[in-house]
Amino acid sequence: MAMTITDAIDCVGAPPDEAALRAALTRILSTSDADERESVWRAASRGLLENCGDKVYYRGLVEFSNRCSLNCYYCGIRAGNEGVERYTLSHDAILDAARFCAASGYGSIVLQSGERRDAGFVDFVEAVVRDIKRETVSDILPQGLGVTLCVGEQSRETYERFLAAGAHRYLLRIETTNAELFVRLHPESQGLDRRLECLQVLQDVGYQVGTGVMIGVPGQTVEMLVGDLLFFRDFGIDMIGMGPYIPHPDVPMAAEGRGEWASDDAYRTGLLMVACARLLLKDVNIAATTALQALDPEGRERGLEHGANVIMPTLTPTEQRGNYLLYEGKPCVDEGREDCRVCLSARILGVGRMVAYNEWGDSRHFHSRQ
Ligand code: SAH
Repeated sequence: MAMTITDAIDCVGAPPDEAALRAALTRILSTSDADERESVWRAASRGLLENCGDKVYYRGLVEFSNRCSLNCYYCGIRAGNEGVERYTLSHDAILDAARFCAASGYGSIVLQSGERRDAGFVDFVEAVVRDIKRETVSDILPQGLGVTLCVGEQSRETYERFLAAGAHRYLLRIETTNAELFVRLHPESQGLDRRLECLQVLQDVGYQVGTGVMIGVPGQTVEMLVGDLLFFRDFGIDMIGMGPYIPHPDVPMAAEGRGEWASDDAYRTGLLMVACARLLLKDVNIAATTALQALDPEGRERGLEHGANVIMPTLTPTEQRGNYLLYEGKPCVDEGREDCRVCLSARILGVGRMVAYNEWGDSRHFHSRQ
């Protein structure tokens, strides 16, 4: 007899064995029934309240450079995309964003960029992190802003330098844990092994480590997504950021379109992945990502309902937002940082959740793992 959705939800929370867990996750991720989906998100919401409480944590996002030396086949700012006007924010502009972030009560900042490994870049990031930490100390934030980095694969030494400068969380998406799919997404010079090694180094040197996958990529199956969730658990990942794959017109993968995934399916499965991650991983931080909102104006609110507890208001200056287009239809590119502040708190309160101000909002999972 087929598993009911209630049985599947219960099984993910307390699996009797690995085969049953895989079957339960597959069952949940495969549903398109509206009532079943409601049962799933309600269970994930309960799981969130029990394990993390009802606070939503902010991370002000500064996309500080779109210069990139890599050529991921899906990404709009890949090196080979000549249609992109390249920029790097100045040290002062990033510090200005950090001061706004602290003054807005966001508590934490995320610095994200294309990937470079040259000494100039590493020195620049290190100095920016050090100055952000120094300049944002106040009575309200005695240790300054929490700093998360998202600047790709780097050497152990570089990761250690960034940590010593004051960054304490790092995001590096695995994109997929399926070796064959990974190869379809990246040139040969970028391997899954290297990505895994970097995640291990990040964990070893002491970061709170975040990862995630794109959902609804051509060639991706529900079984692969189940594998991704089990990887998050087995690796001891502290933070999750994942969202639907959205094609960009000027990259190699544009030719494949959405493959076998309709846009609605990618969106729904993205939300169900958030819910499954919450049910399975319990006390990790999970972001309601912008890519969800790209496919539905209320995508981030739905993400919160499905168990997410982190939101990343954009602090990138409006004049640069249009140059940081990872995919088509990225929302909020015409807005300013003030707009995002007002809009997001309304969205969070609208789904009955609390906004946490002036807190780092670290992953409870990280502290219980120590
Ligand atoms: N260079 C940094 C930041 C990459 S951009 C790094 O490698 O970590 C952040 C994330 O955007 C990527 O990890 C990827 O998962 C996501 N992304 C890129 N292109 C996308 C697309 N077309 N659709 C959806 N997400 C995309």
